[in-house]
Amino acid sequence: MNISVIGYPRIGNLRELKFACEKYFRQEISQEELEQTAKTIRLNNLLLQKNSGIDFIPSNDFSYYDGILDTAFLLNAVPERYTSLGLSELDTYFSAARGYQGEKGDVKALAMKKWYNTNYHYMVPEISDNTEIRLTGTKPFSLYQEAKNSGIQTKPVIIGAYTFLKLAKYTGKKSAVDFLDDTAKAYAELLQKFSTSGAEWVQFDEPSLVMDMTKEEISLFVSLYEKILSHKGNLNVLLQTYFGDVRDCYQELCALPVDGIGLDFLEGKQTLSLIQKNGFPEGKFLFAGLVNGKNIWRNHYAETVAELSELAAYTNHLVLSTSCSLLHVPCTVKNESHLDENVKKHFAYAEEKLTELSELKQILQAEHPTETELFLKNVALHQEPKENRNDAVRTLISHLTEKDFQRQPEFSERETIQKKRFHLPIFPTTTIGSFPQTAEVKSARKAFRNGELSEQDYENFIKEKIAECIALQEEIGLDVLVHGEFERNDMVEYFGECLDGYIFTEKAWVQSYGTRCVKPPVIWGDISRAKPMTVKWSVYAQSLTEKPVKGMLTGPVTILNWSFPREDISLKESAFQIALAIREEVLALEENGIKIIQIDEAALREKLPLRKADWKEDYLNWAIPAFRYVHSGVKPETQIHTHMCYSEFADIIQEIDDMDADVITFEASRSDLSILDVLKENHFRTETGPGVYDIHSPRIPSTEEIQAVIDKMITRVPIEKLWINPDCGLKTRNFQETIPSLKNLVSAAEQARKNFS
Ligand code: GLN
Ligand code: ZN
Repeated sequence: MNISVIGYPRIGNLRELKFACEKYFRQEISQEELEQTAKTIRLNNLLLQKNSGIDFIPSNDFSYYDGILDTAFLLNAVPERYTSLGLSELDTYFSAARGYQGEKGDVKALAMKKWYNTNYHYMVPEISDNTEIRLTGTKPFSLYQEAKNSGIQTKPVIIGAYTFLKLAKYTGKKSAVDFLDDTAKAYAELLQKFSTSGAEWVQFDEPSLVMDMTKEEISLFVSLYEKILSHKGNLNVLLQTYFGDVRDCYQELCALPVDGIGLDFLEGKQTLSLIQKNGFPEGKFLFAGLVNGKNIWRNHYAETVAELSELAAYTNHLVLSTSCSLLHVPCTVKNESHLDENVKKHFAYAEEKLTELSELKQILQAEHPTETELFLKNVALHQEPKENRNDAVRTLISHLTEKDFQRQPEFSERETIQKKRFHLPIFPTTTIGSFPQTAEVKSARKAFRNGELSEQDYENFIKEKIAECIALQEEIGLDVLVHGEFERNDMVEYFGECLDGYIFTEKAWVQSYGTRCVKPPVIWGDISRAKPMTVKWSVYAQSLTEKPVKGMLTGPVTILNWSFPREDISLKESAFQIALAIREEVLALEENGIKIIQIDEAALREKLPLRKADWKEDYLNWAIPAFRYVHSGVKPETQIHTHMCYSEFADIIQEIDDMDADVITFEASRSDLSILDVLKENHFRTETGPGVYDIHSPRIPSTEEIQAVIDKMITRVPIEKLWINPDCGLKTRNFQETIPSLKNLVSAAEQARKNFS
């Protein structure tokens, strides 16, 4: 049996690509230097996989920013506003990724969206009626060649035609079907090119096939592939899916003249039963995704071996694969020097997953797989007790009743009480929480961690930053202030460190978007609040000003979604345990005089099942109650805010209102403000601050630009419910961008007030 990897992390073991790109953006290194770093990472990854005996090694899984954006460039689907800037090829690419503001023009970045149910974000390709889809790029070919030149035969990986057309945004009258022929032609040409360059397999990633599909979508998919595959010649094509099962198109998929079908047996609830019911087409390779590409726990060899032997009844062309690209896990456990060996031995990051694949291959080659040493060692590992129970927490959670999830009094009564209490102007201005994390802040935190800075000195330093931040916000004229979050490395990791049951890693970085990486903490056991987490900082910040300062917490669903979860208890159970801990912090903030508390649920939508039929039962029925439980104990006059990133929540708008927060802020500027119509149509009750500018880009929005956004917002949101704020936290920006941006935001709000009084 052969083994396959769908994709490998490209950021580098120590985030080398991130740092090189950022240096390049600051013009500290040349393009050649950046390219050299990229090449080193690619070759390392290839060698690593080769040495682990991986039979199907991916190429073209590398990207400077995002693989979907790469595909848009490959297919000539790049808006003219970028290509006409007259920048180099690479800089044109980065202008679409990050926006561009300089001598040659001023353009915003493409929209960015979450990649299915992960915390990775892709750039949304924009297709207009004038877009001519053609194969214009060369990257997949040169990366294939590069690998080949170093003696490694690879399987080039390309985002599939169907997924590409489904993810694109159509700005004119045309839609995906109108681009069917051109797209199929471009992909067919791509196959021909690979065929001549000596490739044996090409992998088309089609995660969109695991979504709910309409008849039209199924026929779009089938027509695309009938056309594409009619030119494939001797080349083998692997159609790779992940993040779910293909229940809507399994038969059509099997009927296509592809050579391999990649299915996810971990997240695909029905994958196995689809095969049991329908069989698997003879002669085709089944790439069975059984090594988890999303979680960091060691594989259960007993389960994997059992599943593979079951599958062997349906096909004798079985390939063992990761369940999705390893992009979603950190690079290697080797760099975790602080973790206890007893913990570490349960972990497998990307590199260790390669080892698992190769061990499983060896096990399966043995005459009696379940008697091999490798197998038995793995079984023994999983039998070791982990000592991670907290019975007090479990008892509390098991006694919760309906009223623990219901805040009193109801929304409108609270709204009146709070309007009286806070006396804010119309269009109150605020920010989402974090202020720029400057090099100074980061290095102080590092020095504290390394023991080079005493606790007292570190605390004084943070206080100094908080004081500067409060003074700055007063000077800018914001209405509701924040302390700036300087004590936090990350909005989830920070809390993980303050909670019992969590363990945190040192180098477990995972790419979130572009050069941004996150380091999700690991839920090891039952969660409880070990100590106050934010009270000290919030109380200090509030002591410096008459204006309200928001207490700033991360909500249970986001903490859970941005952690590596346990596999031994349910997500619901973990969510409620975290909710209990955050609730204790909310009540402590209130008791200490904090009047407004923001509980971020940036990632609420992230783990929403991809199929609608699973939404409530598998997710919303516990996720929304978990949030409600966090704030149901506060007084009527305490204002609860929440914040969400990316406004793809039109379809769960009711549930979001049901979170029963008093105010919600969210990203809107990158998604065309279309969410506003949804708010209006649904008579959204919660007060809202749809972000008036995009903080993911270094551009400074002008006052006029923000005014225009506000003008649009007030046609959809009742003015007494509208807040004015950026679309997300400012931690990734610098002060040179932040200060003028916020000044423009405040003056736009002031102007709007004049127009309305
Ligand atoms: N309060 C957080 C911040 O401002 C929210 C970040 C987020 O939404 N991702 O950084
Ligand atoms: Zn956000």
